[in-house]
Formats: sequence, structure tokens, C-alpha cells
Amino acid sequence: AKDLGRNKLQFYEHGMRSMQDRRNQLEQRLRLALEENSLKLAYQPKVDVDSGRTRGVEALLRWTDTELGEVPPEEAIAIAEDTGLIVPIGEWVLREACSQLERWRTSGLGELTVAVNLSARQLNEKDFVSRVRHILEETGLAPEQLEFELTETAIMQDPDNALRIFRQLDSLGIALSIDDFGTGYSNLSQLKRFPIRCLKVDRSFTAGVTSDHQDAAIVRALIMLAHSLDLEVVAEGVETDAQLDFIRRLKGQQYQGYLYSRPLPAADIGRLITAERGA
Ligand code: C2E
Ligand code: CA
Ligand code: CA
Ligand code: CA
Repeated sequence: AKDLGRNKLQFYEHGMRSMQDRRNQLEQRLRLALEENSLKLAYQPKVDVDSGRTRGVEALLRWTDTELGEVPPEEAIAIAEDTGLIVPIGEWVLREACSQLERWRTSGLGELTVAVNLSARQLNEKDFVSRVRHILEETGLAPEQLEFELTETAIMQDPDNALRIFRQLDSLGIALSIDDFGTGYSNLSQLKRFPIRCLKVDRSFTAGVTSDHQDAAIVRALIMLAHSLDLEVVAEGVETDAQLDFIRRLKGQQYQGYLYSRPLPAADIGRLITAERGA
């Protein structure tokens, strides 16, 4: 029994070491990807439930490394957050997304909005708001076309600081959406102070609306909450017509999900929206 215990311990230590190795390797390669400008963005349409048309897109980080292959965004973001790389990466994402939107606008695709995900660490940067303003000036994008997505958990790390920042962003005309709504520890009395435009219902709830009574009840309650607070609601992760019907019956205004489109490279999204406009 003693031997077994020791083997287990060795196995555990070995496992820990290779986990640490992987993290070190990821950090190194991610740093390099940022320097070499080889990170990419995918865009996923946010679709109007009634008209079936794309109102905006969410920008999502994509990283394919020559040695490691495709790294899942959740893993890349976790490393970036742990190492602080999220600050320069987040800035790259914002600049890239804003210039893409401006290219689409000048090529006639009109007033789409772009949603960019933010990490809590970015809000701790002293000059975050002026950096955002600088990127808007640099790229020429109108602030009304930009929106940030932030989770409740990220807000609650330092609510006073987050509030101060979002009041400034709001006065510039930039919108705030609450991401993965319902999964964090929601502190509604905190949240109500924020200039929120939109609640995004987490896809873990959307997934169950046609099969699970509790998920259906939760999504119904979240949409009703959004309505009564005069907020827009986006259902994430809509994969089936039945799920979309459920959202439509409850008067959810927008949805995102594989049913309409996976996140795609800019060129594909440009073609998709052009085709919509032509139809
Ligand atoms: P998120 O912000 O909640 O993004 C939505 C995720 O759901 C995306 O995963 C998207 O590909 C996926 N998704 C969309 N529709 C469907 C669907 O119908 N079914 C299923 N199963 N999944 C769907 P992705 O791209 O892997 O990103 C994962 C997370 O990584 C994001 O979750 C976000 O938290 C984070 N992330 C991605 N890009 C960035 C970024 O630039 N900055 C920051 N801070 N976080 C990012
Ligand atoms: Ca998001
Ligand atoms: Ca989300
Ligand atoms: Ca998520």
C-alpha cells in the first residue's frame, strides 16, 4: 500500500511537471505568435431573431501554432491571463477587430457592430480608456460600432474600477454586454449600476431549452429580466431550429450559434453578409 502511494505521488508529480512544461511552452509560443503577428480573429454573426439578418459580429481569438497546432481559445486565453500577455493580446484583438469593421464599412457593408471580449486584467491597466480611444482614432471606427463583452465574474473582481471605466466608455458611445449571463455569481444590485446595453444568455442554458425544464425556466427568467430592465438579450450557442423557436416565442431579440454560422475568417463573414444583403 505504501509503494502504491509513492507511485501515485510520483505519477502526480510527473503529471504536474508536464502540465507546467506545457504551460511554459504555450507561453513562449504565444509570445512569439504575438511578436510575429500570427494570431488571427474569427467572427461570429449576432443575428436579429425577427429579420434573420446579421446585426453585428463577435471577434474571437484564433491561434494555430506551427509546433503545437490549433490551440483551443480557452487554453490560450487562460495562459494569456496568467502571464499578463492578455494585455498586449487584448490590444491586438481590439485594433484588428476595429480595422476589420472599418474595412467592411468602407466596402459598403454598413453599420455592423463588433463585440470584443475583455478580461479583468485589461481593466486594471491605468490608461485602458485612452488606449481604446487611441485605437478608435487610429482605425477610424465610430465608437457606436464597438461593444465590449465582460463576464459578471470579471466585473466583480473590482466593481468600482469597472464601473468607473464603463461610465467613461459609455460616454464615448461604446456599449457593454454582460457575457455568459447567469453563470457567474450575479450581484444584481452591483450590476444595475452599470451602463449595460445587453445580456448574453450563456450557451450552457440555451443548449437545454428544449430538453431540460430547468434550463427552459432559467432562459425564460433571464429574457424576462432583460425585458423588464430594458436591455437587449442575445441567446448564445443556438444550434437547432427548436432552440431558435423557443427564443423567438420569448421575444429574445438576437442570437448567435452554429445554426446560423460558426465563427469564420473575415473573408467568409464578408461574403455571408454580402449574400444576406443581396437576398
Ligand atoms: P465566449 O465569449 O462565451 O464565446 C462564445 C464561444 O462559444 C466561442 O468559443 C464560440 O466559438 C462558441 N460557440 C458559438 N456558437 C456556438 C454553438 O452554437 N455551439 C457551441 N458548442 N459553441 C458555440 P471560442 O471561440 O472557443 O472561445 C471561447 C472563449 O474564449 C470565449 O467564450 C471567450 O471567453 C474567450 N475568448 C475568445 N477570444 C477572446 C479574446 O479575444 N479575448 C478574451 N479576453 N477572451 C476571448
Ligand atoms: Ca463573448
Ligand atoms: Ca459567452
Ligand atoms: Ca463562455
